[in-house]
This record gives sequence, C-alpha cells and structure tokens, in this order.
Amino acid sequence: MESTLLEADLTFTGKSFEEGIQVETQGDRILRVGRGLGEPSRRLKNRALLPGFVNAHSHAFQRFLRGRGETFPQGAGSFWTWREAMYALVESLDADRLFDISLQAFKEMLQAGMTSVGEFHYVHHLDPEQLDFAADGVVVAAAREAGIRLVFLQTFYKTGAIGQPLQGGQRRFATPDVEEYWRQVDHLQERLDLPTESLGVVGHSVRAVPLEDLEALAKGAGERGMLFHIHVEEQKQEIASSLNAYGKRPMEVVFEKIFPYLSPSRVTSIHCTHSAKNDLAAYLEAGANVCLCPLTEANLGDGFSHLPSMKQAASRGQVAIGTDSNVRFSMLEEMRLLEFAQRLRREERGAVRDEDGHIGRLLLRIATAGGARSLGLEAGAIAEGNLADFVAVDLEHPSLIFAPKETFEDALIFGGADGVIGEVCVGGQWSSVV
Ligand SMILES: [Zn+2]
Repeated sequence: MESTLLEADLTFTGKSFEEGIQVETQGDRILRVGRGLGEPSRRLKNRALLPGFVNAHSHAFQRFLRGRGETFPQGAGSFWTWREAMYALVESLDADRLFDISLQAFKEMLQAGMTSVGEFHYVHHLDPEQLDFAADGVVVAAAREAGIRLVFLQTFYKTGAIGQPLQGGQRRFATPDVEEYWRQVDHLQERLDLPTESLGVVGHSVRAVPLEDLEALAKGAGERGMLFHIHVEEQKQEIASSLNAYGKRPMEVVFEKIFPYLSPSRVTSIHCTHSAKNDLAAYLEAGANVCLCPLTEANLGDGFSHLPSMKQAASRGQVAIGTDSNVRFSMLEEMRLLEFAQRLRREERGAVRDEDGHIGRLLLRIATAGGARSLGLEAGAIAEGNLADFVAVDLEHPSLIFAPKETFEDALIFGGADGVIGEVCVGGQWSSVV
C-alpha cells in the first residue's frame, strides 16, 4: 500500500506548533512522524495540522431543537422545561426526518474539525408499540453517509424517573431488559463492520436505569472489553432524587455499581457539573474520564463545573468535550467557553492551564487526546501508529493574521473564527469542508 508524506507549515506536536514536521500515513494510520523524512507528496500550504477534534458526547437528533425551546412565556425555563420540547420532537420523528437531522449534525461536526463522534444514542424506536430498534440503524447510516468516525454508544433507558414508567415520547427510548439490550448490541455489532465504526455501552443515567440493571450493564461491558458512558450529576435535582431513593449520590452509584466491573479508564461520566469535590477527586484519581459539554451546559443553564480541580486529570487525558444537545458545532468555541466561564466566575485568568502555565495546549489536549481516551480510539495525537485523523487550519484566515507561532494555540482558540477549519481527514481520507 502506498504511503503519503504530509507536510504543513505548522504541525501540533502535542506541546507546541512547529515548522518542518512531516507525517507519513498509510491506509488509515500514521506510519511515522519526524523531520527530513523525504519529499512531501502532499504539501499542506498555509495550513496548521492538528489531530482531528474528538466530540465525545452527542445526541445528533437534538440538532433540530436549535432555535426551538428558547422562548419563555411562562417565565424562566430550565433543563426540565427544555426536556419537554425535546420529547415533543422525539414523538415527531420518522426514519427520513431522523436521517436528515442526523446527517446534517454529522456534516456540521466535520465542518467544525471534529473527525470522531461518540453518539450517545437513546431514541431507539420509530414505532414505540413494536420496540423495533429501527432508529439505531438510521443514525448509523447517517454517520456513514457523512464520513465521520462513529463510536455508537448504545444506550440502556428503562425508567422516566427513578421507579417511574416511561411516558409519552420517552417510550421510544425503551430498553425493556438487559437481555434484550445485549441482543441489540450483538445485532449492531454485525452491522458496524467498517474500520470507522465501533460500539460502546451506556446506562443513560441513574434516573433512567435501575441499579441492578446498571450493575449488569457494567459487568457485561467489562466482560466484552467495551467502554461505558453515563450522564452524571448535570442537575442538582438528579442528585436529590438519587439521595432520596438510594441514600447515595449518582457518583457514589458509579463507584459501587460500575467501577468493580471494568477499568475506570474505560468509564466516562458526562457533565459532573454538581459533583461533590471529594467524589470528583476520587473518581479522577481512579483514572476515570469526565466529558464536559460547555455550550450545552451554558444553553441549558446547568451551572459551572469544577474545572480548576480537573487540571491534572486533563493533562493525563481524562477530560473530554462533547457537543451534547448540538445547539452549535464549534470545538473552538467549546474550548474557549471552558476557560472563559471560569474567568467570569472566579474573576481570574488561566483556570485551565498545564504545568507550564499554557492554556491553549491543555484545551487542545482536552479536545483531542481526552476525547480519544473517552471513546477508546487510538487517536487524539499526531503520533506513530495512531489513526490518520487530522484537521487542517487555514493560516491565511483573517482571524489568524498576526497570530504568534509560539503561542498559536491561544490565538486559534480565543480568536479563531469557525471558518479557519480548512480540511479534515478521517482515516486517511481528506475532504475539504467548504
Ligand atoms: Zn447528553
């Protein structure tokens, strides 16, 4: 198989942007990275080359809610009022509509430089009376059509709230029992046969999954060597309900029902917005991952995460970013908001910094290596053996003029317009995003 030798004006090494770095790819992998490897077969002129951004948490269908659920005739809304608009959308979905919305979402992700997505998928049924699981294949087909790398996170969802049956639109989410769930996972496994597609296990949340089922799912994920995702402590009400029903917080449930069955490095908790500091410290110390969704958390009025206490874990690749409700697709803005939200709250600058004091480097690590770890992908860094997933940034874009090479990442994150994303590459396949 022929190899391709890439050379961009600047290449992100994981530490900084450097000139003269060459990257040799073959098939869907990076063969070598270094200087003076030969005459480049593909010169990426006026480009900066980065690992493709990894979107670790998405619900593609929620892309349709953009501009909906933003008026408040009855006074201020919340996550819970937004959820009603989401359920109304779910009830209106048929195969064509779901495909069109999902395809649009995945295309926009690629345009924003995201080469992989963890699709946390829980709308399973087009006909809730039949429990047909027909919606699963529709979303997989949309990702395949768009050409994005897909980690399909098949979601177990059984209760509308703790101990409550599913109602209305929620009936389309139903996974009646764990045996049925694994049957559908096996069915999907046969269909996800491309090198750009893989599967992960999800328990939606403590409010949607009874504890015995959560434990059974974690056990199955461990036995099958699969990764595990769950929504944790996005809302204070979720913590109160869990304490009320079980006498423990959702994060304590993760420790007791999930950690015994698989390596914490394979576990990702989404949000952790209101997690107790001690819980979060113990969780990260164990080696597990957190996925933050800054734009969604801002849009839904969720609150602030304890990001400064996650700095070291982020350096180790344990913090990822997801676009969640897909109110907007911009990994640059997701990164920017992570730091800006903390500046506004704490009245200081530099909340998200690495051990050398660099903000942009750590934010880029979160958007790339952190996401790759969360999704179990050999990606997130331009390194030998990794997947050939890249994003190429346009150095001639007006928003990057005067950007210093030494701290280019800060110029890119804080000042880069969405239009700086020039091309993306998924598994060695390049495409222009314009
Ligand atoms: Zn979510």
